[in-house]
Amino acid sequence: MKKIIFSILFILGVTIVDAQRMSPSDSAAKTEIYSPVPPIVTPGNNNSAPSDAIILFDGKNLDEWVLTNNISKPANWFVENGIITVNKKSGNIQTKRSFTNYQLHLEYRIPENISGEGQLRGNSGLFLASTGGGDLGYELQILDNYNNKTYTNGQVGSVYKQFIPLANACRKPGEWQTFDVIWTAPTFNDDGSLKTPAKLTALHNGVLVQNAVELKGETRWIGLPYYKKHGACPIKLQAHGDNSEPISFKNIWIREL
Ligand code: MG
Repeated sequence: MKKIIFSILFILGVTIVDAQRMSPSDSAAKTEIYSPVPPIVTPGNNNSAPSDAIILFDGKNLDEWVLTNNISKPANWFVENGIITVNKKSGNIQTKRSFTNYQLHLEYRIPENISGEGQLRGNSGLFLASTGGGDLGYELQILDNYNNKTYTNGQVGSVYKQFIPLANACRKPGEWQTFDVIWTAPTFNDDGSLKTPAKLTALHNGVLVQNAVELKGETRWIGLPYYKKHGACPIKLQAHGDNSEPISFKNIWIREL
């Protein structure tokens, strides 16, 4: 017994002497980590792309995009003066590349002379993962809600029919607006069941509108959302078709995470 007590006292003594010998900065250094080293990314200016981004639209062409309902055909929305404008006759467009987890920036403009109300006023959408043709996938709603009421889980910044945005941060029609999103794709088990849900954080004009929400499934216009197993997916922009005037986009870039 004496031996055990002596040993404990000895260890305590050594520890105390050790601690006394160490300077505060030595003690602080014990919790410092030096690797891995984060990669150097040169940030952009005024929402321009950081150095490691993939540019999805640089103002020149739609080389990164195809038609959703015929992916062998190039996207035929209009490119003029550095911006894309929806071609109402052509339907949705989507990226040639597929993505899993990412950070994305885009800018859009509702036409100044927009008319209509509810869902029929500047309706488009950013499909965070396009799981098939038409409107299949997960839609972050784009709509003019500057002075336009609609169901709140369908207004701009909503995860359509799933999550009401935390704020209405609309600018006036005619002004350029931004979306910045962080998307974590869902994962699935071998049997097709959901392993982890998709997660979304979104800022509309710099204002947080979705805060790490866990999606209930893919967007459904009718009925409740549900998941269906998928892998990496293209990103899609919606041509809603009902707008009085078509909306425009510019400066679209993405960083894979
Ligand atoms: Mg829409």
